[in-house]
Amino acid sequence: MKCKYCNGKAVIYVRRTRTPLCPSHLEEYLIKNVVKVFKHYRIDLSNKKILIALSGGKDSSTMASLMKKLSEVEDFEVVGLYIDLGIPKYSDYSLKAVEKLSRSLDLEVRTINLREALGFNISDTGFKRRTICSACGIIKRYLMNYAALVDGCQIIATGHTLDDITAYILKSYITQDLKSLVKLGVYNPPLNKLIPGKVKPLGYVSEKESLVYVLSSNYPFYHEECPYVSHETIEFQAKRFLNMVEAKHPGIKLYMLREYEKNRQLYEKLVEYPPLRRCKICGMPSQREVCSFCSIVKRITGSYDSVLKMWENNFLRII
Ligand code: SF4
Ligand code: ZN
Ligand code: ZN
Repeated sequence: MKCKYCNGKAVIYVRRTRTPLCPSHLEEYLIKNVVKVFKHYRIDLSNKKILIALSGGKDSSTMASLMKKLSEVEDFEVVGLYIDLGIPKYSDYSLKAVEKLSRSLDLEVRTINLREALGFNISDTGFKRRTICSACGIIKRYLMNYAALVDGCQIIATGHTLDDITAYILKSYITQDLKSLVKLGVYNPPLNKLIPGKVKPLGYVSEKESLVYVLSSNYPFYHEECPYVSHETIEFQAKRFLNMVEAKHPGIKLYMLREYEKNRQLYEKLVEYPPLRRCKICGMPSQREVCSFCSIVKRITGSYDSVLKMWENNFLRII
């Protein structure tokens, strides 16, 4: 099959637009979709420093490459962040992929090592599998905010795709979890000076497009899943279900996301949050006296000391 725009060999057929694309036109198409996100949410990137969250996986490699390319023609700066969770084999191989990506994109990347910063690895928390993932999510979100603040970044970009976001939206509908539902947009503006804006530049890009892009462009990524991933979760099953619907109705995921975006303000009106205060340990915004991050660190290490030490020092290391 030939690319719709040139004589090159197509590497993907985008069903929702009925377009075969070669690697360079796929890149152009993906960059256009990333720009659409910034335009739709009126995110002003000029003179901003954006923290690119890297996991070593395909989607963050795609996102990093597209954001780096955009930064070369637009007026903003990007730096990468890899959080080393200390998961045997998985974290080592992911870090190697990030190091290769950093060289191939000429992207400056910082790492933060959990053991060095907080004194423990995710694997030795003693938690059960599901608890590990919810603790890991809270720790990663907090460390991204920490890195952005320490490094002077105003926006954090993550590699979530259209498939991830729609699966989480469906999960929130199923469980009627309105508090989670309102947070699932492609962009969440900064909360205050301590919580930077969070954007998902691949919000209009599918996982398949992302995979074909990294493979056809030869960008490094680590393809194994974290050993703690569970395929039994509601979000994983929601993703499988949406893939089946998308196969029969190409474009349905994008339609679902667009409709969600229209209704998001309505959902926001239905949710009541307790007023935000400052965590009495770390000073970060929290709905409770002690934030979830500090509570988890205390549960694992027996004290809050490592949180205080982390804020007194800079644990970001440049690769
Ligand atoms: Fe963390 Fe769970 Fe994801 Fe592994 S699967 S990186 S433990 S959230
Ligand atoms: Zn082409
Ligand atoms: Zn705290």
